[in-house]
Amino acid sequence: MRKKNGTQRNKKRFWDSLRVQFGVSYIMIIAAVLVLLNTYPLIASEDMVFRSKKTSMLSSVSVMVSSLSGLERLNQDNVAAAMALAEDSGLSRILVTDASGRVLYDSREGRDAVGDYVLYTELVQALMGNDAVCCGYQDGAFRSRASSPVLYRNQIIGAVYAYEYDPEQAALLRGLQENLLRLSAFTGAAVLLLSLLLSARLSRKITALLTAIREVREGAYSHRARIFGRDEIAQIGQEFNSLTDRLQVTETARRQFVSDASHELKTPLAAIRLLSDSILQNPGIDSETTREFVSDIGAEAERLSHITEDLMHLSRLDSGILDPPSRVDALPVLTQVLRMTGLLAQEKNIDLIYRAEENCIIRGTRDEIHRVFYNLIDNAVKYTPAGGSIQVILRRENAWVIFSVEDNGLGIPEEDLPKIFDRFYRVDKARSRGMGGTGLGLSIVKDTVQRRGGTVEAANRFPNGAVFTVRWPADLNE
Ligand code: ADP
Repeated sequence: MRKKNGTQRNKKRFWDSLRVQFGVSYIMIIAAVLVLLNTYPLIASEDMVFRSKKTSMLSSVSVMVSSLSGLERLNQDNVAAAMALAEDSGLSRILVTDASGRVLYDSREGRDAVGDYVLYTELVQALMGNDAVCCGYQDGAFRSRASSPVLYRNQIIGAVYAYEYDPEQAALLRGLQENLLRLSAFTGAAVLLLSLLLSARLSRKITALLTAIREVREGAYSHRARIFGRDEIAQIGQEFNSLTDRLQVTETARRQFVSDASHELKTPLAAIRLLSDSILQNPGIDSETTREFVSDIGAEAERLSHITEDLMHLSRLDSGILDPPSRVDALPVLTQVLRMTGLLAQEKNIDLIYRAEENCIIRGTRDEIHRVFYNLIDNAVKYTPAGGSIQVILRRENAWVIFSVEDNGLGIPEEDLPKIFDRFYRVDKARSRGMGGTGLGLSIVKDTVQRRGGTVEAANRFPNGAVFTVRWPADLNE
């Protein structure tokens, strides 16, 4: 079922790929830019040419109109004379008509339209008294037409019509267009190539990261993402790798813990099994030996219950769910612990002395403070030979409550000191077991103290013995 979900999730559609999304967006943006580049400058320059053509055509026509002004009537002769005086305007064709639209003058070679009636739109407009101009692009050339009326005492006596055919400016504009097209093709190709390269790089990085994530998800905790460059994806890769480092450490610790815990649970269970088998398989066993065996079974069962109790306590600490803290005066708790451990010390003829100050208020729960005190003093009693001495101090130092337990017992080998707070770690397994130890006491102490913002340290005393020091933040609220 889970696998099915997995494959469904992995089934990607074409558009789901970042590479496709980036690639298509790039191409669309570039296409839009190129279309703009190929249209706007051309339209703008064409418009500019049209406007300048219109102005120049109208001014050329008005020059010719002014050279005809003053004539009372227009006829072929006076128009030809006036037009001969007009400067060469560079226009392709000039027509002058009378008021009826009959051509009196045609600048074209052969004067082929003279005497004809022409009804060009602009000319008709001019004969109606309006200036008319029009400019267009057709078949590789600009074609401009302009016409203005010729007036005598406010009477329309004719019109001047000019036509210009300009392939040169059109060729310039075509050249510009071709250059723009070439530039666009080059830019388009370059951007396309770049976007393909970039998206390939991006997808390679993401694929490497995804592969690493999948590998780790499948349980290959030693696998690391390959990092390329220093960009955000590389940073995600680094974060992922350090996350995996931590995961690996936690996983190793978890496996170690499970194997240690099962081993610890197996030992008393095996002993119980052996003892009960011995009783069952030995019909002639005397009652004295049976009692002895049953009492041993009881002791092993008690050990099992200690281990499970400690394990449950540790798992509560691991889950991070703590009982709400309150102000706890450490002194009465210590007195109670000393009463309990004092009996054990007495049995071993150990001198248990203490010095405790008042005003050692800690934020926590009575139970956890009790557990820390008990574990440390009980350890000192356990690991100090008969006739030894233990000194317990509870004092206040600025914002800290300091609790220390010193003994003149076995001490701890220097190489074991850093591991002493690890779960199930014991310097001498057999000795610890023999004393009913679980190997979890110090890790419970450390976790409990740390969860309340404190620290715990272990050191050796000169010439022999060990000292454990706990520093707890004092509750400063009065
Ligand atoms: P245990 O249940 O075995 O006492 P702890 O976690 O309390 O487990 O202690 C871990 C180990 O640290 C012990 O097995 C012992 O070897 C060592 N240790 C603890 N306290 C002392 C001490 N006061 N002197 C010497 N060794 C100690």
